[in-house]
Amino acid sequence: MSRAKGMAKDLEAITPRGSGRHLPQRNAEAAGEVGRILAVLDALDSAYGNDEMPPEALSTGEPLDGLILTLLSQNTNDRNRDMAYDALRARYPAWEDVASLTPAEIASLIRPAGLGDTKSVRMRAILEQIRSDFGAYSLSSLKKRPPDDVRRYLSDLPGIGPKTVACVMMFDLGMPAFPVDTHVARVSRRLGWVKEKMVPERIQEFLELVVPPERCGGGHLNMIEHGRAICGARHPKCEGCVVVGLCERVGVSGD
Ligand code: SF4
Repeated sequence: MSRAKGMAKDLEAITPRGSGRHLPQRNAEAAGEVGRILAVLDALDSAYGNDEMPPEALSTGEPLDGLILTLLSQNTNDRNRDMAYDALRARYPAWEDVASLTPAEIASLIRPAGLGDTKSVRMRAILEQIRSDFGAYSLSSLKKRPPDDVRRYLSDLPGIGPKTVACVMMFDLGMPAFPVDTHVARVSRRLGWVKEKMVPERIQEFLELVVPPERCGGGHLNMIEHGRAICGARHPKCEGCVVVGLCERVGVSGD
């Protein structure tokens, strides 16, 4: 059995339907696979050194700010996201003022991020929901709630998917989560941790089960750096890769 198939089988074994999220009794083979994943994370940290960086260091401070920033990042790059966010906050520093705008007014301000019509409607709906739930435009009180509650709450907000939830939990709330973007997904598949066609949402579930909570933030950041610098979609630089001895798909290109 290939490592990819073995890991996918493990995922099914450790997430039985209706069982909730828990670490299972693992057999020796699965424990060996987890050991290989941790060995990769160690090697990547030697190369990029993000384990020492607390994810909160990249936080905006207010989880609602982080949520809106991440909403704007959907389907665009960091530069365009930041341009849109900065334009919005420079003009309307208070969320209550943003909430009073029409979707068209918001869309014109966040145009650099793309999908302005969709994102503006979602932003308004999110702000209204949070104001209704907490009596203020703030998500700071989530810091005191259990991570499973926080995950459920954020997931129920309009237009918010698992990656955005994980980003807010990790960066803005200091909670364990492993956001899976295109780089993390590609590197996970190339290394043979998951099936080649496994979708990011399932990869995220897998990583959050097998990676110790204290390794999630650094692991996420290190995998993104590796995907950008070495393990690119078109031309992976396998000869200079620090995990070439632990990789199942050396020299394979594509996502
Ligand atoms: S050996 Fe190549 S394919 Fe594997 S992780 Fe490194 S760069 Fe990516």
